[in-house]
Amino acid sequence: MRGHDLLHPRPEGLYCPPGDFYIDPVRPVPRALITHGHGDHARPGNSAVMATQQTLDIMAIRYGADFAQTSQPADWGVPQKVGDVTATFHPAGHVLGSAQIAVECGGLRIVASGDYKRRHDPSCQPFELVPCDIFITEATFALPVFRHPDSKAEIAKLLRSVRQFPDRTHMVGAYALGKAQRVIRELRDAGYDEPIYIHGALQKLCDYYETQGVALGALLPATLEKGSKKDFAGTIVVGTPSSFADRWARRFADPVAAFASGWMGVRQRARQRGVELPLIISDHCDWDELCVTIKETGAGEIWVTHGREEALVRWCELNGLRAQPLHLVGYEDEAED
Ligand SMILES: [Zn+2]
Repeated sequence: MRGHDLLHPRPEGLYCPPGDFYIDPVRPVPRALITHGHGDHARPGNSAVMATQQTLDIMAIRYGADFAQTSQPADWGVPQKVGDVTATFHPAGHVLGSAQIAVECGGLRIVASGDYKRRHDPSCQPFELVPCDIFITEATFALPVFRHPDSKAEIAKLLRSVRQFPDRTHMVGAYALGKAQRVIRELRDAGYDEPIYIHGALQKLCDYYETQGVALGALLPATLEKGSKKDFAGTIVVGTPSSFADRWARRFADPVAAFASGWMGVRQRARQRGVELPLIISDHCDWDELCVTIKETGAGEIWVTHGREEALVRWCELNGLRAQPLHLVGYEDEAED
């Protein structure tokens, strides 16, 4: 069997003919296997969905219990028969429940890794290396200029600023699924045990992470009553990036605008967003981690998708690996990184 007979791009997403399913379809399909709960990968309206239990739970939280007609949980590392293929879900280290999906048929194994990272993240399962013949990799930060710093140092930067400006409110923008919980958990690991204030849009997912054993400490709603502005001086408020564009955000005391994202390594992006304190905390691999992972899988062929495909394809070729861009559409590099 050739690679493209097992998986190939269609307008709806990556299609597997012998299994008759799509991985992370961008349009509703009869059968979908879903890598993780971010909105550009997990969409509502598919008839049958297979994903990890945590991804199914997250989809239900975000879209309602009727996000699909039927859903089937995939246990970590347990091969499941889907049509004529075997599908196995392995941790991707991206957000809680995020999976790489290994698809096998006729002695050929392709791993579709979705979004993934290699760095330690106290809020989700660590990435698991899955040897394969063809590795499908994301390319969000696939340029040699992208080298993410240690996230502990970024968290220390935030805490230093909080100590330095006790009269100001530190407003940390973080995506609702994964990044927000990771930042909160990393603040706890750094010894910060004051209550952390959260925007209402984060409440349900933070509650869910708690039920899954990710302890986030004391979280209080960041709601302002009349005249209580001063109550938030010296505190940390975490909200979604869009909530910080609201009137809600302008009511806090002399805010320090912080933003936790891999893109904060690009000064221009921080400036555009009016970010005073950029925190380079990424849920994707940087350039070195992409290259190391590609080598470690032992795959002889690499398919590159969503991001800067060309540089990574070129790197693969220079390293003696067959490689091609997949040209999948509908995945955003900044939606929820
Ligand atoms: Zn993602």
